[in-house]
Amino acid sequence: MAYDFDLFVIGAGSGGVRAARFTAGFGAKVAVAESRYLGGTCVNVGCVPKKLLVYGAHVADELEQAAGFGWTLEEGHFDWGTLIANKNREIERLNGIYRNLLVNSGVTLLQGHARLTGANEVEVDGQRYTAEHILIATGGWPQVPDIPGKELAITSNEAFYLKDLPRRVLVVGGGYIAVEFAGIFQGLGAATTLLYRGDLFLRGFDGSVRTHLKEELEKRGLDLQFNADIQRIDKLEDGSLKATLKDGRELVTDCVFYATGRRPMLDNLGLENTGVELDARGYIRVDQQYQTTAPSILAIGDVIGRVQLTPVALAEGMAVARRLFKPEQYRPVDYQNIPTAVFSQPPIGTVGLTEEQALEAGHKVQVFESRFRAMKLTLTDIQEKTLMKLVVDAETDKVLGCHMVGPDAGEIIQGLGVALKAGATKQQFDETIGVHPTAAEEFVTMRTATR
Ligand code: FAD
Ligand code: NDP
Repeated sequence: MAYDFDLFVIGAGSGGVRAARFTAGFGAKVAVAESRYLGGTCVNVGCVPKKLLVYGAHVADELEQAAGFGWTLEEGHFDWGTLIANKNREIERLNGIYRNLLVNSGVTLLQGHARLTGANEVEVDGQRYTAEHILIATGGWPQVPDIPGKELAITSNEAFYLKDLPRRVLVVGGGYIAVEFAGIFQGLGAATTLLYRGDLFLRGFDGSVRTHLKEELEKRGLDLQFNADIQRIDKLEDGSLKATLKDGRELVTDCVFYATGRRPMLDNLGLENTGVELDARGYIRVDQQYQTTAPSILAIGDVIGRVQLTPVALAEGMAVARRLFKPEQYRPVDYQNIPTAVFSQPPIGTVGLTEEQALEAGHKVQVFESRFRAMKLTLTDIQEKTLMKLVVDAETDKVLGCHMVGPDAGEIIQGLGVALKAGATKQQFDETIGVHPTAAEEFVTMRTATR
């Protein structure tokens, strides 16, 4: 049977755009349908605008440090409207770049909601298209628990377009987004409280990292409240919001920001017209080749709920394109040692096993840990400490994990990701000459095991 397209991609986000462009580059006929915004979550309401706001908040640190270096500054004034307008302009520029990337590589771009009407058929705005392969790359959506008053809360989607910076913010959650946005709001001047339901936020990260970040955020005046969760939210007469906690306490604020995870975006996708099944957590079930339970339909990225990071969605998109249309170039995605950063203030950079994971996996673990005040701060009154940690297998000498909390952690950890992928040993770290004077050199100069 002749199909309209060799590949029909649903969703022009990180994974979908990558798969479509590579597939078109291999000479196949490709269409992409996008209902909302080109570039998806990362470009529009994720990584990119978030990082721009983090930079904005970080300016406050630079201003605070300036006096130590002899600069006298007049009192600064921050204007949220300017930051958001400039951010929006940049996002529009990126949307245009994504459009050009797709169109110039020969992809047919369809703007509208796509709905599966069969295993090889998709409907967009009443028009039906057939394809030999269909790729679902529809991403995720913020998930807010079902509590009374949830409609009064915002999520990251709305935070990027707030008209004004709230004076007081309650951030709920203890994952990446909660910690990053707490830093943004607080850095830009809002009195910020972070509520997390467990004992300590960032579950799954290394224990030393979690404790260290908690201490540093508290030094900065962030109000961290653990073992705390909201039962209901009410609007008060003066327009402010009252959050009643499960322990009966009442907190009054101007904005309740929920960052309690994301669900797969499956709304009106028409999965019932196909044999696509979901897994126990509600994500699309795929095999190692990203094939769903319907043989002609594949899925990648946040919608499969594996690792919800842009570079992972990109790698999965590339793997699908190569496997289907350039099999000689196909390589499976390596989910081991994925480096990642939390753009908190200070940021976290991490790759490989945490100390807890290494012990649980049965390794005999040696830990090298260093805490120090960054050189840049020595001329200032700021007492912030940087943490660096190596988790090493005592028997093989292999470095199992690298963890950092401190300035530029995300930039520093990328290179260590290469070292771990290459299977570097602690001895090879020790034999690597440091770059002096940097914070990063500490990773190759930690000589004495702390545990
Ligand atoms: P998405 O990028 O979400 O793209 C899915 C696209 O499909 C969307 O454009 C959507 O409109 C479209 N779509 C959905 N349904 C349909 C339909 N039926 N028809 C047509 N189109 C449809 N990751 C990092 O690596 N680093 C970060 O710093 C980072 N920061 C983040 C900050 C925030 C606030 C958030 C929310 C996420 C962040 N992420 C970050 C995660 C990252 O954004 C995602 O992992 C990534 O975007 C997933 O890509 P994807 O292709 O699976 O989906
Ligand atoms: P996460 O899954 O990282 O964190 C969700 C948080 O919300 C957890 O602390 C969780 O607690 C808590 N939570 C979940 N359900 C509830 C509930 N019903 N009530 C109270 N608290 C709840 O999700 P995020 O929304 O922060 O981010 C989504 C994903 O996006 C991340 O996992 C990451 O993959 C990606 N991302 C990456 C970034 C980066 O690379 N820098 C930045 C932002 C997002 P508990 O731990 O107890 O389950």
